[in-house]
Amino acid sequence: MKEIKAFGSFQCRTVAGVKRLSEHAFAKAADISGFVLEDGREISVLKDFRNKGAKGDFLREIHDRACSLFDVTLGPNYNADHVNHFHLDVGGEYACR
Ligand SMILES: [Zn+2]
Repeated sequence: MKEIKAFGSFQCRTVAGVKRLSEHAFAKAADISGFVLEDGREISVLKDFRNKGAKGDFLREIHDRACSLFDVTLGPNYNADHVNHFHLDVGGEYACR
């Protein structure tokens, strides 16, 4: 592929505080805010990531496993912008925070 143009789309945005396009602009990223289990229980990154019980353990394990599946995994421990979701992308750079 020679060129990807992305402008004027709701998905086209820059990385917070940095003048470059987010991987979201290339449809290579997903933001995950939580999970609903079979039994209806909800697990929220915002509410449960720092929980010392099973919900927190679940989310921390998901985060750690995501690091081996995706190029970039960012969560609440990274910065305040990610307090309510996991950012996962396959943009080619590596980060696990
Ligand atoms: Zn994101």
